[in-house]
Amino acid sequence: MRPSDNAEPKTVVFVACAGSRDKSIGIPYCSNFCCMYIAKQAILTKDHIPDSQSYVFYMDIRSPGKGYDEFTRRAQEEYGVKYIRGRVSRIYPKGNKMVVRGADTLLGTQVEVEADLVVLGTAVISNADAGHMAEKLHISYDTFGFYVEGHPKLRPVETNTSGVFLAGACQGPKDIPASVGQGSAAASKVQALFSKDMLESDPAVAKVNINACVGCLKCVGTCPFQAIKEKELRDGRIVADVIETVCAGCGVCTSTCPCGAIQLQHFTDNQILAEVNAICLK
Ligand code: SF4
Ligand code: SF4
Ligand code: SF4
Repeated sequence: MRPSDNAEPKTVVFVACAGSRDKSIGIPYCSNFCCMYIAKQAILTKDHIPDSQSYVFYMDIRSPGKGYDEFTRRAQEEYGVKYIRGRVSRIYPKGNKMVVRGADTLLGTQVEVEADLVVLGTAVISNADAGHMAEKLHISYDTFGFYVEGHPKLRPVETNTSGVFLAGACQGPKDIPASVGQGSAAASKVQALFSKDMLESDPAVAKVNINACVGCLKCVGTCPFQAIKEKELRDGRIVADVIETVCAGCGVCTSTCPCGAIQLQHFTDNQILAEVNAICLK
């Protein structure tokens, strides 16, 4: 039904990539699954309104999943959906219809379709609050607000904060099968964590030399993982203290300390300088 008046639309135009893959509006990425839901909606339209005709304006069809390409072909061959390769330049009203004007780049001609209903395959964007949540969890996010995985190939569901895993469209535009697969992978990772009696942590964590620490607590404010707290010694002195199970070994605190009192175990300043010297001598 047409949302404006509940009329049954006989001519439906779908516009793919509406707002995606367009650097000029700050969304250069592909929204990943709209090619498929456009094909699905076009098939459903024909199923429910047999005398309807659907058109799809597209840049290129991205259907890399299992059976996806066949599904898109079915929309064209079995359901008669007309795919027009080209971008829409203008949509304007004419009576109770909308005229969709675009270019057919395969035929090199201009095309106009008078539609009863125009459906935009709009861009997938991240949640407006995604950055705020990422900062709370101390995980990274990209310029579009999607969370960043530990490694695209080797750590696809992990983040740079241990114990925080990713699943679904928070990481980027993703369809249902991919989200379910990633969710299952993240759940397995959590299960593996809880299946052990003891948690193993990376030995490369920060350590404070309490004799050198002057208690300025600059490191406390800079630690992105809130792994440093203040501690009062028996003599009343305040020093920094690292919570080893929380420390991610990022090394930010070591470059902040004005006294060199906090060092990353196995990567102390002296050890790194010794390595540099050894390399330079070769
Ligand atoms: S999935 Fe298809 S319609 Fe969606 S942005 Fe990518 S190419 Fe365009
Ligand atoms: S920055 Fe250095 S001196 Fe200051 S509290 Fe931290 S470890 Fe101590
Ligand atoms: S190494 Fe990184 S995570 Fe560990 S205490 Fe220092 S700043 Fe925090």
